[in-house]
Amino acid sequence: MNKKIINFVQDVYQTKDFIPLHAPIFIGKEKKYVNDALDSTYVSSIGKYVDDFEKRIKEYTNTSKAVVTVNGTAALHTALYMAGVKSGDLVITQSLTFVATCNVIHHMNAEPVFVDVSSLSLGLCPNALESYLEEYALINSDGACEHKITHQIIRAVVPMHTFGHPVDLDEISIICSKWNIMLIEDAAESLGSFYKDNHTGTVGSYGALSFNGNKIITTGGGGAILTKTFKDYKRVKHILTTAKIAHPYNYVHDEVGFNYRMPNINASLGLAQIEDFSEVLSKKKRLALMYKNFFKDTRIDFFEPINTNKQNNWLNTIIFSSKYERNLFMRVLIENDIFPRPPWKLMSKINFFKECFSDDLSNSRYLEERILNIPSSTIK
Ligand SMILES: *Cc1c(COP(=O)(O)O)cnc(C)c1O
Repeated sequence: MNKKIINFVQDVYQTKDFIPLHAPIFIGKEKKYVNDALDSTYVSSIGKYVDDFEKRIKEYTNTSKAVVTVNGTAALHTALYMAGVKSGDLVITQSLTFVATCNVIHHMNAEPVFVDVSSLSLGLCPNALESYLEEYALINSDGACEHKITHQIIRAVVPMHTFGHPVDLDEISIICSKWNIMLIEDAAESLGSFYKDNHTGTVGSYGALSFNGNKIITTGGGGAILTKTFKDYKRVKHILTTAKIAHPYNYVHDEVGFNYRMPNINASLGLAQIEDFSEVLSKKKRLALMYKNFFKDTRIDFFEPINTNKQNNWLNTIIFSSKYERNLFMRVLIENDIFPRPPWKLMSKINFFKECFSDDLSNSRYLEERILNIPSSTIK
């Protein structure tokens, strides 16, 4: 079995050398656009590539507006800021996520609350969310959702579309409206994945994308915040531009802002990447099908998402029946220069978040030990 998978992966990538988990590919006009940005001297936060890339992201995701940022973490931080998260608030998210989701909650001086993921989506479980709220929350006299024990406001829910697989957004939206909680989507991993007819990141009040080097398209470092109204868009642009009042020469700022805009040079790379995105998606789909067929005849489960008809297949995921088998398999691949990746250590277990509230996290704990992501770079 081990020999078979090694041969299979080496055949897929046509190499016996190092095979990474996910490498970026540049098959289009990247060099042309980056050079053009250099020649224009517009390498910083203003320029036509920023405008063009924002427009393409907006059109692709069919959101009302997109604002591109220096990275996905900055986009998520802005989303929480826009949602009105305040010092001392609680923000519900999943324990099975990348640390950035929780870091931004901490940056707002709020605290994460960890609710279990669904083993069908690998993302926030609506039933777990509902049960947690039933047990620990109440709607206070101001109409806000309050924690029964600490009286902190539960301001937002931030589901994350793990490895590109959409969470059950219908159910989660219903629960958020019922409990008067803001819904913000961490769609950092899910550009190209749709929940029903909606692109991930466009159902909640705000969504954040990432274009880091390991994501499905890259701008080197980069991200985007997706907003639903023109008013929100104007406000996001303003606070991300250090809250400078537009004026030909006067520098006046009307509040404390951020410097989170994506530079034009990064956007030039992004524009070339998004132009080739449909080709990348179809190649990734082909790879996922190849893996699926391969694992059909084995004792290893190839994870298939439920909540989607259109999935980005960013990282292919297999699930073992035990941690022991997973680790054994992982070691064999690494010895052969093939680099898979286990999931992140649960956020509820890492030092600086381990005191936070959580439910029993049974699926998260189960999956943490058994999941493995296998090489998923776009094939030729
Ligand atoms: C990549 C990622 C981010 C943030 O991305 P950066 O662009 O690296 O700041 C946030 N959340 C999740 C789940 C991610 O995978």
